[in-house]
Amino acid sequence: MRKLMIAGNWKMNKTYTEGVVLAQDLADELKGADVKVDVVVCPPTVDLKGVSEVIEQSEAPFELGAQNVYYAESGAYTGETAPNMLEAVGAKYCIIGHSERRGYFGETDEDINKKAKILMEHDIVPISCCGEPLEIREAGTHVQFVVDQIKADTEGLEISDPSKYVIAYEPIWAIGTGKTATADDAQEVCGAIRQTLVEVFGAETADQIRVLYGGSAKPENIAELVAKPDVDGALVGGASLKAADFASMVVKAGE
Ligand code: PEP
Repeated sequence: MRKLMIAGNWKMNKTYTEGVVLAQDLADELKGADVKVDVVVCPPTVDLKGVSEVIEQSEAPFELGAQNVYYAESGAYTGETAPNMLEAVGAKYCIIGHSERRGYFGETDEDINKKAKILMEHDIVPISCCGEPLEIREAGTHVQFVVDQIKADTEGLEISDPSKYVIAYEPIWAIGTGKTATADDAQEVCGAIRQTLVEVFGAETADQIRVLYGGSAKPENIAELVAKPDVDGALVGGASLKAADFASMVVKAGE
């Protein structure tokens, strides 16, 4: 049985102090709540330590994730962050392959595959994103497009604990636009992802890998999305910046 997950991607928002305040607000919102899902917040890199301290001091029911990593252990890679640096500040998860990184920073499936491998060596759970742009959706080839991404992103990956590899299907046309894919749209592609995972890893492993949906997910649509058999939660952008909205999604997903 897969445990649902609600993960918040703060993107390039919140200074250190603002991040600490948001994390504390979220901890307060969730205090005493019956949290039945795994909850992850992914602040900007410079906020990680501060949010980690809030989680520890408040015994908050969420875990820390990063938004990116580099696929080397150390060295001359100016501006990058190594997996052991994430580990040292308490990051348990890391988003990789977000469409904004693919689009603005030229991240390829090969990069994403290398990032997944090095993260897993450090016991950091990758949240590996995939998803089609609008023109592919309009051409009706979105399922094949995403299946190809998944095959490339998982190439040669060895998964010993399937609860420690997470996929997020995020149709690019639904990110930050207010246009949510319908729950049926999400299920169509998340179901195809599951089938691809069966081909790649076998049925037993594929059945335990969580596949999240992302793209304008909010308190109003989270219940309908997670009611679908292959949608195991959400990666949330905009709504994760408001503690009350994000907390409400956490609670509703678990109902
Ligand atoms: C995201 O970018 O991961 C995302 C899902 O954003 P939003 O929820 O704002 O569409």
